[in-house]
Amino acid sequence: MKFYSTQNKVTEAPLHQVVFRSLAPDGGLYLPNTIPALGSGFFAKLESMPLPELATEVLWPYLSDDLSRTEVEDICAEAFNFDVPLIEVDKNKFVLELFLGPSGAFKDFGARFMARLMAAVKKDDNPVDILVATSGDTGGAVAMGFFNTPGIRVTILYPKGKVSKLQEQQLTTNGANIRALEVDGTFDDCQTLVKQAFADLELNQKLYLSSANSINLARLLPQSLYYYHAAAYLGVGNAATFVVPSGNFGNLCAGLIAQQSGLQVKGFVAANNANNVVHRYLQTQRYEPLPTKETVSNAMDVGKPSNWERITKLFNYDYATIAQHIQGYTATDTDTLQTIEQVNQKYDYVMCPHTAVGWLAAEALHPQANHPVVVLGTAHPAKFLPVLPPNAAKAVVLPSSFKMLEGKEKHATPMSTIYGDFKNWLLNR
Ligand SMILES: *Cc1c(COP(=O)(O)O)cnc(C)c1O
Repeated sequence: MKFYSTQNKVTEAPLHQVVFRSLAPDGGLYLPNTIPALGSGFFAKLESMPLPELATEVLWPYLSDDLSRTEVEDICAEAFNFDVPLIEVDKNKFVLELFLGPSGAFKDFGARFMARLMAAVKKDDNPVDILVATSGDTGGAVAMGFFNTPGIRVTILYPKGKVSKLQEQQLTTNGANIRALEVDGTFDDCQTLVKQAFADLELNQKLYLSSANSINLARLLPQSLYYYHAAAYLGVGNAATFVVPSGNFGNLCAGLIAQQSGLQVKGFVAANNANNVVHRYLQTQRYEPLPTKETVSNAMDVGKPSNWERITKLFNYDYATIAQHIQGYTATDTDTLQTIEQVNQKYDYVMCPHTAVGWLAAEALHPQANHPVVVLGTAHPAKFLPVLPPNAAKAVVLPSSFKMLEGKEKHATPMSTIYGDFKNWLLNR
C-alpha cells in the first residue's frame, strides 16, 4: 500500500515515511491510496475472531508491501493484548470499554501498535529519538506503549505541576528507553521546545528525530479495529449507531474507514463538549474553528480538530454526504457531570466525563433505540477521580495497573524553557 496526502501533492508515500514523518511534506495528512474492501469471507468469520486475529486481517492490506504476515501477526498479538468488553448499560445502549489497556484510555490502541510498527519498519540500526510534548493523556499512552521497544528512545516533555498525579506516574516511572523531562513552564512551552528541535538542522544531523503525535496514520488505523470488534459481539447484520466522544476526530475518522471497508454501520454521532466546531458545521455548513475552551472532558478540548481534514477528504468534501453519515451533539459540563451521577445511580455504572458526553448524545438523539447504540468508552473513570461527582468517584474500582504505579520511583529531569538547555541535554545523553 502507498499513501497520499490530503493536500494531494504527495501521492505515493511508502509506509516508513508515513510512520516516521507523521505530516506529509506538503503539509497534508496521509491517507491510504485505497481503502481495502474486506470481503464476505472476513465478515463470515468475524463473530468468532479474537481481537489480535481480527487486527491482523484488517491491518494486513496496509502493511503487506513492507512486512511479512508473521510480523504483522506478532505486532497485533503484542499490541492488542487486553480485553475490550461491550457492556449493555441500558436496553440497546452499550458502552464499548476501550480503556482496559495499560494507560487506561483508547489511545493505547494507537500507541501500542505504532511503537511495534516503527520498530518493524525501521530501515537501519540507528536509534530513533521520539520527542513528545504532552498535557497529560497522550504522553502516558505513548510512554507506556513504547516501553522497551528496541532501537527507539522516547523523550516526554510535560509541564511541571500541571498534570494529574496518575498521569505523572504514567510518564515518569517507566525507566529503560523512556525519559521524562519536567519542564518549568506550560504545555505550550513543551510544544515549542519540541518544534524548535525538529527545526534545528544541526540537531537533526546528529539525531534521528521522530514524533508520535495523534495525526500519525499509524495511530489512526488500529482505531478502526474496535468498530469491527463491536460488530462481532452484536452480530454482523445487527448494524449499530456509534457515538464517538470527539476531540481531534481520529476516533471517528477510524470508524468511517471501517465503514468504507465494508462494515455495516447505521450511523455515527460526533459528540462534542463546548469545543463544538463540527456540530456547528453540521448545523450551518460553515466550518469555523474557535479558540479552545477548557471543559471537564479535557481530552476533547480541541478548537481546530486536525483529523477533520481527513474526514472531509474521505467524503470528497461533500456536505450532504457528511451530514447523512454523521449527527452532531454538544454537551455542557453541567449536563456531563449530572449524567455521570445519574447513570451511576440508575445503572450502577461509572463513566469518565468523555464517555458521559457520548452517553448524553446517545440519550438525546436515540432515546428509544430499537437497534444497538454503542457509545465508545474512551477512558477509565479512575483517571478522572478529581472531577467526578463524589458518589460516582467513591464507586470507582481502581484497576490493578494503576495501583501498581503507586510504589514506583519517579524519574524525571527538571528542564527550563530555554531551547539551548534542551538541545544540550539531548546531545549529551
Ligand atoms: C483523545 C481522547 C478523546 C478524543 O479522541 P479523538 O480521536 O481526538 O477525537 C476522547 N476521550 C479521551 C479519554 C481521549 O483521551
